[in-house]
Parts: sequence; structure tokens; C-alpha cells
Amino acid sequence: MSRQQLTALIKQKAKELGLHSCGITRAKAVPEEVRHKFEQWIAAGCNGEMSYMARNLEKRMNPALLVEGCKSIIVVAQNYYTEKASPQLSQYAQGSDYHKIVKDKLHQLLEYINTLHPARGRAFCDSAPVLERYLATQAGIGWCGRNRQLIIPGAGTHFFLGELFIDIELEYDTPCTEQHCGNCRACIEACPGKALSEEGIDARRCLSYLTIEYRGELPQETGEIAGTGIYGCDRCQSVCPHNKFACQHNEPLLDANEELLSMGIEDWKNLTEERFDNLFKDSAVQRCGYNILMRNIKYILDK
Ligand code: SF4
Ligand code: SF4
Repeated sequence: MSRQQLTALIKQKAKELGLHSCGITRAKAVPEEVRHKFEQWIAAGCNGEMSYMARNLEKRMNPALLVEGCKSIIVVAQNYYTEKASPQLSQYAQGSDYHKIVKDKLHQLLEYINTLHPARGRAFCDSAPVLERYLATQAGIGWCGRNRQLIIPGAGTHFFLGELFIDIELEYDTPCTEQHCGNCRACIEACPGKALSEEGIDARRCLSYLTIEYRGELPQETGEIAGTGIYGCDRCQSVCPHNKFACQHNEPLLDANEELLSMGIEDWKNLTEERFDNLFKDSAVQRCGYNILMRNIKYILDK
């Protein structure tokens, strides 16, 4: 089988697995300017308490060091947009844990590849030192907007990214190197924490970071700027004109359960640990845990 045929079959299988996009890039070290920008961002402390982002820099900057023998990176995007969502939680956290959903699909893709050609690979989804958005641009899936999200032309920003690092050569896609935001600044203007600027994002001011990753007391203004959102924030996505193309996702595991959808403000204020465990059994919300969610509720809903 030729490399072209193999690549076409891999992309066809990704589609059958319900993945919106699949692009492929060669595994190689990132250019010096990308590395420099990342190092400056860390040096300025913009990663807040996410110290893991500063670790394994060499592996983050060179995929071949993360997975020995890796030649190609297959990048996939799973749509998570839905209008049937609890307004208290970010869109991405409505259903089951996306890490597992995307990795399962990548493992199925690897199994399929092995029916065509022997290959060894490792799957990642927001789970290792991987420059996911950069790789997605290199794999031609989309471009990175001022909101620091990957924008997929004609589809918007509500996508989980996953990567399959693999030890075979494939056909490579043309990278998306340009930013197409033009004169738009809607996300920068809409950001309640003023976390976005032309230079990038300062996580320390971002409600997603503060309500999910940050473990300390929240800044006093959090209650005023968060509205009624207690887990994450989607404003820089909801104002983005590219999201007028967003369509309902196709993955039942990402659907919110009826109990979650029925929760009102009083239910959240009275949330017990037992109910939290039932509501978020297989959810990414487990990442912050009951105590942090209750901290958010106290600052944001109980003010
Ligand atoms: S998630 Fe919210 S707080 Fe964070 S950058 Fe986007 S709009 Fe700003
Ligand atoms: S809102 Fe405007 S500036 Fe922000 S990412 Fe979307 S197009 Fe770019």
C-alpha cells in the first residue's frame, strides 16, 4: 500500500470514529521563535500555579524526545459544542471526561492502522507535554485566534484536540500559518478578567484557570465578573464570529445528564459531596473536586 493510500484510509477511519478533523504533520522540533515565545510566557509567570507547564520543556519542544522513534503526528479534533448545556459549567465539561473519549478513539485508530501496516504509537489528549494547538496548526486543521483557541474554518473553536504519535512516515498536510482575526478584537474586549491581549493569555486572570486549576482563595472580584459560571468560562469563544458555524456535536458521551441540566442556583448552593460524586462520576469536573467547586459556588453564587 502506498503512503498516500495509507494516509487516506487513516483519515477516512478518523471520520468513521466521529472525529471532525484529522490532519498529519511530521514529528520535528518546533522552530526557535515558538520555543522562545513559550519560554517568555513561562518566565513572565503567565502559567500561574500550573508548574507542570514549565517541566519537560525539551520534550514539549521536540515530539521525538517524548516518544522515541516517532515520525508522524496524527492530530484529531472532536467537536463538543452543544446548546443543551448547564449554564454553570463550561461547554466542554457537560458530559463524560473528554481525555478518555478522545484517547479511546485514538487507540481504535491505532488498532486500525495496524491492520494496514505495522505501527507503534502513543495517544495523548491534554495529558502530556505536547504543544497541542501548535501541532494542530502544523497538521493543517486550523489556526490559532486571539482567544488562544484553535479555530477550525467553517466550524469554530469548540473542539478537543488529540494526538497520535506514530513511528511510520505518512503524507503531511499543509500547515495553517496565518492568523485570520483581522481587525476583530471581540474576545479581548469580552474577557471578564482582562486575561487576553495581543501578546497572549495571562492564565492568572482567566476564570477558567481560577475556577479549575487554581487552589487558593479566589480574587475578590471573581464573584462580580464570573456571572453565574462556577466552572470555567466560555466568553472568549461565544463572542468569536467563527462560532456562528458551530454545530451540535455527535458524541453521546459528551451529553449532560438530565439531573445536571435541571440544577438551579439553589441546588448548586446546597450541593452535597454525595450529589457531586453522582453528578460528576466520569466527568472532567472531578479534576477540581468537591471542595474547589464549593469554593467557587461560595464566591460566585453565594455573594
Ligand atoms: S476563558 Fe473567560 S476569562 Fe479566560 S480568557 Fe476566555 S473570556 Fe477570558
Ligand atoms: S473573537 Fe475575533 S479576535 Fe478573537 S479569536 Fe475570534 S476572530 Fe479572532
